[in-house]
Amino acid sequence: MRPREAYDRTLGLLQKHHEWFRKTLPLIASENVTSPAVREAMICDFQHRYAEGWPGERVYAGCVYIDQVELLAMELARELFKAEHVNVQPVSGAVANLAMYTALTDPGDTMMCLSIAAGGHITMGKKKFGGAAGAVHGLEIEYFPFDEKRMNIDVDAAAKRIAEVKPKLVTFGGSLFLFPHPVKELSEVAKEHGAYVAYDAAHVIGLIGGGQFQDPLREGAEVVTCSTHKTLPGPQHGMILCKKELADPINRGVFPSMVSNHHLHAVAGLAVALAEMLEFGKEYQAQVVKNAKALGKALYDRGLNVLCPDQGFTASHTLAVETITKYGDGGTLEQKLEQANVILNRELLPWDPREGRHFRNPGGLRLGTQEVTRLGMKEREMEEIAEFIKRVIIDGEEPKRVAAEVAEFRRDYQRVHYCFESATQAYEYIKIR
Ligand SMILES: *Cc1c(COP(=O)(O)O)cnc(C)c1O
Repeated sequence: MRPREAYDRTLGLLQKHHEWFRKTLPLIASENVTSPAVREAMICDFQHRYAEGWPGERVYAGCVYIDQVELLAMELARELFKAEHVNVQPVSGAVANLAMYTALTDPGDTMMCLSIAAGGHITMGKKKFGGAAGAVHGLEIEYFPFDEKRMNIDVDAAAKRIAEVKPKLVTFGGSLFLFPHPVKELSEVAKEHGAYVAYDAAHVIGLIGGGQFQDPLREGAEVVTCSTHKTLPGPQHGMILCKKELADPINRGVFPSMVSNHHLHAVAGLAVALAEMLEFGKEYQAQVVKNAKALGKALYDRGLNVLCPDQGFTASHTLAVETITKYGDGGTLEQKLEQANVILNRELLPWDPREGRHFRNPGGLRLGTQEVTRLGMKEREMEEIAEFIKRVIIDGEEPKRVAAEVAEFRRDYQRVHYCFESATQAYEYIKIR
């Protein structure tokens, strides 16, 4: 391909992606759409700069405004999460976790956390699975005992296990995160046995900021790591909140240990997103959870095996649906739904490894309501979404036919809500050439 052709082709593909996303139902639990103001921040000149070090103590020139923006981002985060100390330099949630491991543990120490099948993230994984905790930082991993029916950590068994294992670090949180974890119940035991208590809020940090989930820093967690683009609708980036006693080791764990350039445009986007959440977060996040519960019920009423019906399906933005016994594996259904313009992802369920299933063709699906809520959808629209999903999974309708109707349905939901200004559409392709 000639260079000019490749250039045009690349930019053309971006435009195609934008056109497609305007017509889809974005239901992947780890994604969101940013406001026009966040997108504006993301294309500013900060993306070309370096600012190693702490604001005011940089080892690069040209940081006059960059410093002020980073200080603002930290101040807004401290306010939103009532945190004693904030570091906004991790370039992602994965980097935030590695920085936290580096600050609090040495290679060879043991961390207790959820297994990947029970909802743990790959960054908490064992070395033999290539997980960052084991393969990069050399941690030994012990799993929390897990109650598969309640989809939560088994408190009594976990307390016993902590006393036996005496881990150096106990990390709550995960990627399939339906109900608040027992931080209050287990933090003291963990600390008594010499562990630091951390909480990976990558998925739920927005809910926490909006007061709609749990409050790990008040319940005993000393450090909270997160991504800033899941329920918190900011740019793809990471962040760490902690007690002031841990500020120095956490800062050093981030720089110089894990970042050099820390994506200053994303820090700017994060400051904007945090300001939006201080203003609109409570209302937005409350609607996210209401929508998740409503979508869970609507899918369940139509015959889908949504997990945890007796607990109201979820207390977060996420739902888990078991599909393999009646309708097929999560991988196959994910692809069919994608053809119907319904974008969600396959999910490994806690009992799948015992049944010989793995992540390519797991037993179910995961859905999140944070992005469709951002587009202005409420409980009524959850009924319609459930109907589209049912027509593909249960009725076996031709996905292409459903796709056309999804696109039609989406026409009325093109703006980002819960933000100060919304002059451009959510998935508008903005050309500045
Ligand atoms: C998404 C996720 C991460 C990693 O986030 P990135 O920002 O994609 O690096 C870490 N932990 C958990 C629990 C997650 O779900």
